[in-house]
Amino acid sequence: MDKYQSQQRINKLREVINHHRYLYHVLDKQEISDSALDSLKKELFDIEQTYPELITEDSPTQRVGGKPLKEFKKIKHHQRMLSFNDSFSKEDMQDWQERISKLLTEKEKKEIDFYAELKIDGLAIELIYEDGFLKTGSTRGDGTIGEDITQNLKTVEAIPLRIDEKRKVIVRGEVFISKKEFDRINKIQKEKGLPLYANPRNIAAGSVRQLNPKITAGRKLDSFVYDLVTDFGQQTHSEKHKILKALGFKINKNNKYCKSLEDVLRFREHWLKDRKGLDYEIDGVVVIINNNKIFEKLGVVGKAPKGAIAFKFPQAQVHTKVLDIKIQIGRTGAMTPVATLKPVQISGITITRATLHNEDEIKRLGVKIGDTVIVGRAGDVIPDIVKVLPELRTGHEKNFKMPEKCPSCQTKLVRSKTEALWRCPNHKCFARQKRNFYHFVSKSAFDIDGLGPKIIDRLLDEGLVQDPSDLFELKEGDIVLLERFAEKSAENLIKSISEKKEITLSRFIYALGIRNIGEETAIDLANNFGSVKKLKEAELKTLESILNIGPIVAKSVYEWFNDKNNLKLLDKFERVITIKNHPVIRPGAPSDDGAKLKGKTFVLTGGLETMTRDEARDKIRSLGGDVSGSVSSKTSYLVAGLEPGSKENKAEKLNVKIIDEKEFLDLIK
Ligand code: ZN
Repeated sequence: MDKYQSQQRINKLREVINHHRYLYHVLDKQEISDSALDSLKKELFDIEQTYPELITEDSPTQRVGGKPLKEFKKIKHHQRMLSFNDSFSKEDMQDWQERISKLLTEKEKKEIDFYAELKIDGLAIELIYEDGFLKTGSTRGDGTIGEDITQNLKTVEAIPLRIDEKRKVIVRGEVFISKKEFDRINKIQKEKGLPLYANPRNIAAGSVRQLNPKITAGRKLDSFVYDLVTDFGQQTHSEKHKILKALGFKINKNNKYCKSLEDVLRFREHWLKDRKGLDYEIDGVVVIINNNKIFEKLGVVGKAPKGAIAFKFPQAQVHTKVLDIKIQIGRTGAMTPVATLKPVQISGITITRATLHNEDEIKRLGVKIGDTVIVGRAGDVIPDIVKVLPELRTGHEKNFKMPEKCPSCQTKLVRSKTEALWRCPNHKCFARQKRNFYHFVSKSAFDIDGLGPKIIDRLLDEGLVQDPSDLFELKEGDIVLLERFAEKSAENLIKSISEKKEITLSRFIYALGIRNIGEETAIDLANNFGSVKKLKEAELKTLESILNIGPIVAKSVYEWFNDKNNLKLLDKFERVITIKNHPVIRPGAPSDDGAKLKGKTFVLTGGLETMTRDEARDKIRSLGGDVSGSVSSKTSYLVAGLEPGSKENKAEKLNVKIIDEKEFLDLIK
């Protein structure tokens, strides 16, 4: 190729590459595979190496980063980059609306409407295009002066290097990192023994402010643009988004025009619930007065515009102080250290305790009594201590020491060989008995209404019950004598106990609180043995031979049913309750081998090595599974063969499990 032909080829390649970049990174569509796109880029690169004078600053090859910088240049923003004030509740939002209403005329008040956007946990940026070319990309900095990170932002594929507009265009947006990329980078950090990043924002900020753009390029940053500073005649904030989209910027399609504050509240409520489905983290929504004239009129207070507000989600992590570490004794005698916390609110709930799991976890966290710690709730479970802040220590903190004896019965503790925990080996330990009672009446066991820990404690303290079978022999008269126990509630309690005198075998087995026996194992045992009598007679070998039951579980069952005291307890139970056996289907268990894949939907993509697609389809169907042509949230598995294509991206987005050929073969074996 001569220079002229090369120029022609370069132009075409750039156009094609840019088109697919736009499809993939801006519109979330994929028409050609990553490797195909890479090979196009490689050709472009090779031609440009032959004719370096043909390299332009908007060439896709210029995204991979230039030379490392000594420091970032400072950039003065044409218009101050503001941040948002926060609000956390409906009341905060109503206050905000009232505050701004006072500054407006009656006519303007009637015209108020909103634009609501997802608030992404990323880093704010400004981009300036001149003559169509991306000239400057900068951080917010202090709002007036930011840092020039143009080279790094050029590596972000979602940001166009060129737009079809000759005027100078200034836009603002966010760079961020996906949840998947966050996990990937932290995994590498961990392997290298480097500190982990606390949140996606930290990585985005850390990556974009790298002096070496090659490091930035190695991290898959993404970007949304949400504000247009240049005047294109836009009257509303929604119009800004339309113009930005038309210019080729990636805007967040989830953002929404809201007619009223009620719509805003609904929008936020929706995303509070649905944010798990997004592949990036959001920490709330940003609400902006849609009418630009009104927005301008409202002006600025401090660093924030009055016409916009961040409506944050409840915080999932907060800091507090560890007042004490106490031991909780479980029904199997396990000693669990629990931190008593200075009361603090997380997601609207007051937290006073957090589990520390075991001695090893205390060592891992390095937590001392008196430490300031960060606590969080993973999902809706018991709060956890996430991290200790040793820099806030005063020197008065105390180390926690695991006791040598059971705090309840003073028996010497034994360290478990298989788990990182200490146990009280005394079966008659009062603390253990109490826990056993709590478990016995719990929802998945006997499920006795109105019989909570407080009443159990009193019954035990008064000596009215010694083991759970005694509950069924209680009379109204016994309870009514207890201080502050009303006649009516005594009657109700006796009634709800007697209602549970008939129980299924699986619930009964679970209620016994045998170590290592959860609900599902209890169901398996009930289905296999059918009666308490057969369980008592079962040999260890027989127990071990049951599907889903391993040697450890078999041993605990065997030991429990061969303990003299337990056998006595079983005799007592047989006198006071009726145990029925009717088979219960264990959740998730296949009903038989012929329908191993029943209820599972598969999507196949790419070529398989060991069979044709038709053969794979037949195999799935013969095992009771379904095969579908496209990925949806109802897909159970995506089987990704060679060159999987865009279905894989879609599956990732929808959190559909992706398996390779080997895993697929295991599944249909
Ligand atoms: Zn004890």
